Amino acid sequence: MTERHPFIETSPWIEAPADPQPALDRDTSADVVVVGGGYAGLSAAITLRSAGADVVLLERDFAGSGASGRNAGHLTPTIGKDLPTTLRLFGRERASALVRFADAAVEHTEDFIEKNQIACDYQASGNIVAGVHPKHVRSLEKAAGTAASLGAAVRYLPLAEMRERGIPPAFVCGVLEERGGTLNPGKFVSGVRAAALRAGVRVFEQTPVASVEDGARVTARCAGGAVVADHAIIATNAYTAGLDRMRRNVAPLRVSLFETEPLSPAALDALGWSGREGIYTAHEALENYRLTAHGTISGGSKVVRYRYGSRLPPGRDPGAFRAIERAFRERFPELGDVAIATFWGGWIGLTIDLLPQVGVDGAHPNVHYGIGFNGHGVAQATLVGEMIGRRILGEEHPQAGALARRLLRWPPEPLRWVGAGLINRALALVDARTDRQVRKQRESAR
Ligand SMILES: Cc1cc2nc3c(=O)[nH]c(=O)nc-3n(C[C@H](O)[C@H](O)[C@H](O)COP(=O)(O)OP(=O)(O)OC[C@H]3O[C@@H](n4cnc5c(N)ncnc54)[C@H](O)[C@@H]3O)c2cc1C
Repeated sequence: MTERHPFIETSPWIEAPADPQPALDRDTSADVVVVGGGYAGLSAAITLRSAGADVVLLERDFAGSGASGRNAGHLTPTIGKDLPTTLRLFGRERASALVRFADAAVEHTEDFIEKNQIACDYQASGNIVAGVHPKHVRSLEKAAGTAASLGAAVRYLPLAEMRERGIPPAFVCGVLEERGGTLNPGKFVSGVRAAALRAGVRVFEQTPVASVEDGARVTARCAGGAVVADHAIIATNAYTAGLDRMRRNVAPLRVSLFETEPLSPAALDALGWSGREGIYTAHEALENYRLTAHGTISGGSKVVRYRYGSRLPPGRDPGAFRAIERAFRERFPELGDVAIATFWGGWIGLTIDLLPQVGVDGAHPNVHYGIGFNGHGVAQATLVGEMIGRRILGEEHPQAGALARRLLRWPPEPLRWVGAGLINRALALVDARTDRQVRKQRESAR
């Protein structure tokens, strides 16, 4: 085990840009003001600017410093908790519409990467929801059947096919999501930021927005000035509770990741895994693993943290770092003690029904929002940004209806904190049991 945890505040995928944009230092006006410079805010800004709108984007730190520059880089059509649960909760018609939305999000993001020539190491390898114990065979087989019946492009992979594909032996069966793959999220969001600047979006960085005030023209207020615009877009995802509105729509959860040192060519060869599929496990709180273009493995998740009052839990989390390193060593014993180069983490925005919230708020109504991507926003936030942009331009995106529903909010504190703690503990107990069963099975096979 690595005793000390080498830690990076943002992530190894991204650095502060070489062309920092100025902070807002005076009042200004625009057609649209966007709050938040991740995939959602930047995509919305590009859509609007490309149609000729004057767009100001305000970003607390630098565009890409949030989850968009920190995530694990699985471009995935995953939606909700899983499709059997989504079917139970929402019925067949809505669940099928959600599958179409999630597929469209992956396709849109692939097209966006292509159209904007973003070099982000994208590999259309697909992703596998992998079982780690024989008990996962039945549940994953069933999940694959349900997903296929809803129109998802998935396929059950039995043990033999997992081995044929060279998937590391700890993963004993799986559901292959054929659409999507993995990318370098930092390169992706930096490319989206560059496209926004090229398009002529007026980006202000180091500019936290304190409030978004209603009016026939909406006002976004910051320390250095205010922006008055016909429309505002809230694209702050996990950070939304820090604004003056929509504070209970999204709960921020802290997720930790790691990246190894580069593997030797011999170790990579021995590993197999030549299809380079992204992997997430069938745990309640999943583990994720993927190869990178620079010969390392990145992974983690497994442990999530919620902090009272939806404040952001701190980044350095030795307990989570220990847990994700231990899980990695257990899943990849063939790699021996390959060193972990760095740990980091970020915040995902969780909604109560685990679906993104996209809509319009405000007395006028001119405050648009796209938040709560539940850890699946690489594709979905990118598409939702485009949807919001089009809505302001007067067009409804064909997939927008899939997300229309009565929006639920998290209960007030202390209920939220107590509830989050209980759910988290219950899921951790289920996962700990699975991990004990896996260890026991491994011992008895020796
Ligand atoms: C560790 C981790 C792993 C993940 N792995 C995956 C994955 O493999 N696949 C996947 O699909 N998704 C993954 N996700 C989720 C995905 O990264 C997000 O859903 C997606 O990036 C959300 O994009 P966004 O634009 O909505 O939010 P963000 O990228 O978080 O952007 C919001 C921006 O708003 C800014 N902001 C916040 N408050 C203010 C304010 N008051 N004023 C101005 N600016 C403000 C923030 O600084 C931030 O830049 C992961 C997330 C994390 C944290």
